[in-house]
Amino acid sequence: MGSSGKKKSRVGDWGIKLRKIERVLVTGGAGFIGANFLHYLLKKNFSGRVVNLDALTYAAEIKNLSFIESKLDYRFVHGSIVDKSLLEKLFEEEKFDTIVHFAAESHVDNSILGPGIFIETNVQGTFQLLETSKNFWKKNHMTEVLFHHISTDEVYGSLGKHGYFTEKTPYDPSSPYSASKAASDHLVKAYHKTYQLPVTISNCSNNYGQFQNAEKLIPLIIKNAFLGKKLPVYGQGVNIRDWLYVEDHCSAIWEILLNSKVGECYNVGGNNEWKNIDVVNLICKLLPEYTDKTKEYYESLIEFVTDRPGHDLRYAIDATKIKEELGWLPKETFETGIKKTIEFYVNRLKENK
Ligand code: NAD
Repeated sequence: MGSSGKKKSRVGDWGIKLRKIERVLVTGGAGFIGANFLHYLLKKNFSGRVVNLDALTYAAEIKNLSFIESKLDYRFVHGSIVDKSLLEKLFEEEKFDTIVHFAAESHVDNSILGPGIFIETNVQGTFQLLETSKNFWKKNHMTEVLFHHISTDEVYGSLGKHGYFTEKTPYDPSSPYSASKAASDHLVKAYHKTYQLPVTISNCSNNYGQFQNAEKLIPLIIKNAFLGKKLPVYGQGVNIRDWLYVEDHCSAIWEILLNSKVGECYNVGGNNEWKNIDVVNLICKLLPEYTDKTKEYYESLIEFVTDRPGHDLRYAIDATKIKEELGWLPKETFETGIKKTIEFYVNRLKENK
């Protein structure tokens, strides 16, 4: 048994009584959350096989994985989830019992400029992975298997000032990114309903922490501030996001892999809503602890820029289901998590100077 942690006895549609995790395919493991998940597996003393399939797009950073490579039973495969023959070969070679599917194009702004690759990776890629999993597992009569799909709260669209997204909130995506994620969620659900493929889905709020590409708000603001560049804030900065420390997202995924009921979807969030401008101001306030500049200097770099088209006003997650069913709770507060995050990026920026 490669996994550790508590086990519950549940019977899924493919006869799962006790979830074993021994041979895992992680897609997109060189990206932000995927790399953190691989570090999390190491932290959990995971002793099973881990294969990381990643196309190494601009968002990937392979050096974030150097620490884990020799410590896990690990194989890196440079390739795409859209590549059917590669997937079939990998399944034959590795006989996966668990898929943890992170690989995606993930940046909303890029999806507005060029949506095609989002459909290719997020929709077509998820389809190929589902199809290969279904065919391989059926052919080999494998029953103790799970396909876990990582998704986003952005599939639900925008909230007004009040209310929360629950697992029952209708999908109403605004951007090509969130529409492509919604499409992939629907495919995953359809493979469960039509072929009884054992699947689970998590829809998570905005993550922050180490290893994120500097195109995203928090690392972008830290990087630009450190380099003395402008700190761009969309519109008036009043859009609200519900921030979750990335390791808390990883622990939620881990609980779902071990203990969830097949076919379930879980909303994951930290109950931690911040206006974008408040996040930027907090970073400006904390940065002087790690640098030789003042809060006022950093604040003077803030620049309000033309709002993103179709910019959702507010996201907020109701995570009651995962808390009650799986006993998951986030460990990090925003105050502690953001300090660790700033320290990580400032150290990286100093190393690269
Ligand atoms: P990321 O952009 O940092 O990383 C994506 C990874 O996928 C990269 O390593 C990239 O090389 C890889 N990839 C892209 N196309 C591929 C392909 N065709 N084949 C194989 N690998 C490919 O993304 P992230 O922020 O780590 O997000 C991971 C997942 O979590 C995504 O599915 C995203 O939708 C979801 N998600 C992200 C957040 C967030 O705040 N970042 C929140 C909720 C859900």
